[in-house]
Amino acid sequence: MTFYQPDLERAMRGQVSRLKSVTSLGGFELESLVEVSDCVLASVRDQDGHSHSVRAQYLIGADGASSRVRALIGQEFEGQTYAEDWLIVDVMNRHKSAIDHIEFLCDPRRPTPHMPAPGGRERWEFMLHPGESREELESPESIARLIAPWINPQELEIERKAVYRFHARCCNKFSQGRVFLAGDAAHITPPFVGQGLVAGLRDGANLAWKLAWVLRGYAAPAILDTYDEERRPHAQAMINLANSWAAW
Ligand SMILES: Cc1cc2nc3c(=O)[nH]c(=O)nc-3n(C[C@H](O)[C@H](O)[C@H](O)COP(=O)(O)OP(=O)(O)OC[C@H]3O[C@@H](n4cnc5c(N)ncnc54)[C@H](O)[C@@H]3O)c2cc1C
Repeated sequence: MTFYQPDLERAMRGQVSRLKSVTSLGGFELESLVEVSDCVLASVRDQDGHSHSVRAQYLIGADGASSRVRALIGQEFEGQTYAEDWLIVDVMNRHKSAIDHIEFLCDPRRPTPHMPAPGGRERWEFMLHPGESREELESPESIARLIAPWINPQELEIERKAVYRFHARCCNKFSQGRVFLAGDAAHITPPFVGQGLVAGLRDGANLAWKLAWVLRGYAAPAILDTYDEERRPHAQAMINLANSWAAW
C-alpha cells in the first residue's frame, strides 16, 4: 500500500528493459485508433510531429485519468468528483522521527490523514477550507504552520507539495473488442486507502497472463472477457471503501 512511486516506477522500467521480448518506445503520443477484423491500428505522433502507424493484435490503454484510449472507444467515466481540495505534503529525511503507523486526525476544523512512507518519508493531507486558495496553502510559510505540531520549521524538508481534487470514477466496461483499459484510465479513487496504483497493478497482473495465453494459443480469446468481469467489481469495491473513509 505505501511505497514511493518514483522508486517503484524506476524499478519496473529497469525490469522491463532487461526483457528481450519487450520493446519500449517513449515520446510518442497516441492520436487515434481503429479496430479492424483481426487487429487494432493506432496512429501515434513523435516529438517532431510526424505520425506513425502501429498495428497490434491487442491494445491496452494505460494512459491515465484523462485517457485518450477511453475517449476513443467511447467509454463513460462514471462517478463523482469531490468539491473539496486537499493539500498533500511529502516530507523527507524523517528516518529517525517519522511515525510508524497511519493516523487520521478527525479534527472537524481540518481533518488530516498522516502516514509514514518508505525511505524516511512522511506524508500529511490537509483539507482546504472554503475561501482558501491553493497558492496560499502551498506556500512554504503556510506548510510550516500546518506541520508545526509535528516538525520544527527549521528541520522541515519538503519533497513534494500539491493541491488535489479527489475523484471517484469507474468505467462501465474495462474492455471493448481488442482494446483494454487499465490503471487510472479505467478507475480513479480518492487516495485514503492507498489503492490507486495498486489497483492498476492488479489490472496488469490479471490481464497479462491471459493475453499471453491467447497469443500463444493456450486459451480461447473468450478468456479475455473475464478481465472486465473480475477486475471491475474489485476496483469499484476499492473506490467504495475509499469513499467511506472520505465520508468521515
Ligand atoms: C496525491 C496522490 C497520492 C497517491 N497515493 C497513492 C498511494 O498511496 N498508493 C497508490 O496505490 N496510489 C496512489 N496514488 C495513485 C497513483 O499515483 C495513480 O493511481 C497511478 O499513477 C496511476 O498509474 P497509471 O499508469 O494508470 O496512470 P499515470 O501514472 O497517469 O500514467 C499514464 C501515462 O500515460 C501517458 N499518456 C497519457 N495520454 C497519452 C497519449 N495520448 N499517448 C501516449 N501516452 C499518453 C502519460 O504521459 C503517463 O505517462 C496517488 C495519487 C495522488 C494524486
